[in-house]
Amino acid sequence: MHTSDDSRIETLAVHAGERVPGPDGSVVFPIYQGTVYTSEPGESYHDIKYHRLNSTPSQVYLHDKLAALEGAEAALATASGMAAVTTILHTLLHAGDHLLVGDVLYGGTHNFLTGHAEALGLSYTMVDPHQPDTWAAAKRPNTKAFLVETITNPLMRVGALREVVAFARAEGLVSVVDNTFASPVNFRPVPAGFDLVFHSATKYLNGHSDLVAGAVAGSAALVDQVRKELNIYGASLDPQAGFLLARGLKTLAIRVRAQNANAQALAEFLAASGKVATVNYPGLADHPDHAHAAELLSGFGGMLSFRLAGGVEAADTLLDALRLPAVAPSLGGVESLVTRPSLTSHAGMSQEDRAKAGVTDDLIRFSCGIEHVDDLLEDFAQALDKV
Ligand SMILES: *Cc1c(COP(=O)(O)O)cnc(C)c1O
Repeated sequence: MHTSDDSRIETLAVHAGERVPGPDGSVVFPIYQGTVYTSEPGESYHDIKYHRLNSTPSQVYLHDKLAALEGAEAALATASGMAAVTTILHTLLHAGDHLLVGDVLYGGTHNFLTGHAEALGLSYTMVDPHQPDTWAAAKRPNTKAFLVETITNPLMRVGALREVVAFARAEGLVSVVDNTFASPVNFRPVPAGFDLVFHSATKYLNGHSDLVAGAVAGSAALVDQVRKELNIYGASLDPQAGFLLARGLKTLAIRVRAQNANAQALAEFLAASGKVATVNYPGLADHPDHAHAAELLSGFGGMLSFRLAGGVEAADTLLDALRLPAVAPSLGGVESLVTRPSLTSHAGMSQEDRAKAGVTDDLIRFSCGIEHVDDLLEDFAQALDKV
């Protein structure tokens, strides 16, 4: 590869991990579909090249690219974002251990903790990532790790991430962050001090809503521990999906910058509309986390949420009237998507948990695509006229 550590992320996205020259001179790294490779004398089990052991040439190539994008020593691809987070938690925590977690979590992570932690002998305490002075009281002698999200869903809150890093260091905890909503274009957790970062690569990293994958990055030692766990649990990424993910990654930086710009313009447009009651976007000056998000992040992301003055009925009318975005959950693709989280991403939560997370029935979440900003704004203008 012809990149250096200080290459910019646009350049890393294209060139990092690439073999020069590629196998047989191929400019694009090929898919190695074979499951198994010949062994050398004296190799151990973990040296064997086999898909599930995450060691085929296609997988190692993808890992190198992901690590460079995250500014990390090492990275690992997984079969989904949930495989990334559950494998990390299985690596860091064993029966009797305790975890500190942010109190607003992706639904799957939340369900894993509420539904499965106890049976595994794990305990956890949810803390407010905005209130560092409450964390010490929540920590126990058996606490091993502290898990937060960069930008939380669906109110786009940004916690005191620097303080999470400092607290974890001081207390000997492994700091872990779900960076799905930010992507490494807007925040690189490992250079900022986090021990492990993970993604649902299904979202921005791939960016085309056509595969499910996850990614983990951090120090070589920690990622190696996670890899050994993944080797056992078996949620390894198939090389076909890995090939598509690497292809998607090449355009990550320009996609995310376009999505940041679209989201900022749309958030400002909505905030100025008399029909809109509230807009949640960290790039708006009145967002509760705007000041420290501006300091911490290099972009505010492509996700926003809002409520209309007309409530649930108006929300349904708007979703019906919008022409460009598909009404669908998920996020991070080149196409805009719109959804009501109370019916989709947060439907599995109790009404009480939803209320705590600020997910009212009329909340609308928007994942900005890379369409021309004027087409998005015109679409919203005509749809708001019908509300
Ligand atoms: C989608 C998502 C996940 C889970 O990822 P999958 O690829 O669907 O398993 C985890 N965290 C966040 C923030 C997500 O948006």
